[in-house]
Amino acid sequence: MLPYDTCLADLISFLHSSPTAFHAAANAAALLTKQGFVQLHEQENWPDLPAGKYFVLRNDSSLIGFTWQGGQTKSGFRMIGAHTDSPGLKVKPNPLRKEQNCLQLGVEIYGGALLRPWFDRELSLAGRIFWQDADSRLHSALLDFQRPVGIIPNLAIHLNREANKQQEINTQTDMVPLIGLADDNKVDFQQLLREQLHRQYPEAVPAGFIDHELYFYDANPPSLVGLNSELITGARLDNLVSCFAALQALLNAAVDENCLIVLYDHEEVGSTSAVGAQGPFLRDILERLLPNSEARQTALRSSFLISADNAHAVHPNYAAKHDPQHLPYLGKGPVIKFNANQRYATNAASAARFRQLCTLAGVPVQEFVSRSDMACGSTIGPLTAAGIGIETVDVGIPSLAMHSIRETAACIDCWHLCRVLLCFFQ
Ligand SMILES: [Zn+2]
Repeated sequence: MLPYDTCLADLISFLHSSPTAFHAAANAAALLTKQGFVQLHEQENWPDLPAGKYFVLRNDSSLIGFTWQGGQTKSGFRMIGAHTDSPGLKVKPNPLRKEQNCLQLGVEIYGGALLRPWFDRELSLAGRIFWQDADSRLHSALLDFQRPVGIIPNLAIHLNREANKQQEINTQTDMVPLIGLADDNKVDFQQLLREQLHRQYPEAVPAGFIDHELYFYDANPPSLVGLNSELITGARLDNLVSCFAALQALLNAAVDENCLIVLYDHEEVGSTSAVGAQGPFLRDILERLLPNSEARQTALRSSFLISADNAHAVHPNYAAKHDPQHLPYLGKGPVIKFNANQRYATNAASAARFRQLCTLAGVPVQEFVSRSDMACGSTIGPLTAAGIGIETVDVGIPSLAMHSIRETAACIDCWHLCRVLLCFFQ
């Protein structure tokens, strides 16, 4: 049993301490390690892995964690999938520019970000860096400035009377965060990184260029909103709520089952990468666990994947954007997602199985299908199903303002998702 208050407090802390996919994966790894899961390294051999609890990281941004009954296992896997990345602003390799006495950092847009809400917000910076020391050895570290260091100010209404009408945003010229005054400042971006590295890791001494993957993020922590604090608002609810729920399930998994979670990076940019759902990560791990193809196929045919990624709740101001027979309400439980064209992998069999689990867990459940005249999003479910042929259901908590810098969901839906996934792994 997972108490509601503990669940929410832990979720908020996970969201706040995971500004990037790298941080989310590191936090997941730390939670698993604390509970006795052993990290496996892909560069090493794992012959006849004994029964136990394990996890693997790839690129520091995707993670597979599992309980394992040993190679003679006859049972399949219970799997949960989710993604660690979220849309945002990624700092360019040589980003620093000085314009009109302002210091700015050039960015690329990562994924399908809803851009308007990024204006006039306190932004912080986080990500991963690599550097070499005086002996040419490479090191890496996670950076997080943990304070507001940037802002993208709007143009005043007086200078743009059309601002409240539909306005195009130019991603090269409009989305450039200010990080301070230029004055006679001789700031160089590499120096800035060195200073932050020193603040976080005083013993690190980089000897040359620092390569970086840094993202701006909302410096305001997630918070509870509503007369009864029944809503949660914050960045990256898509899809860290699902990552968190998957982790809770694995941390409490039954010891005599093969339970596996896969948290993929790069979902927001199409999943085609060495660590994305379209890449070989999961297949590689399964092949190592069950090298005999017959045994692997047998296990996979009796396995089941719950792919968890947020769904669109019906918005009270825009209800017409939904099919009137399928209106996922905030607070009414996880949503099963359907799409005739396989943008979601759900079929009647997998939906029925998830519905059964919800009944068992005492959790309400709803359905989503796009309006027939609107395009449908997709997620890791169909890609994983196509990659390893596993029966899959696509589900997720209903949420508003998906891909905004602050998204909104109902607290109780986060708890419901945790409880049904916990039930799946027990
Ligand atoms: Zn998502």
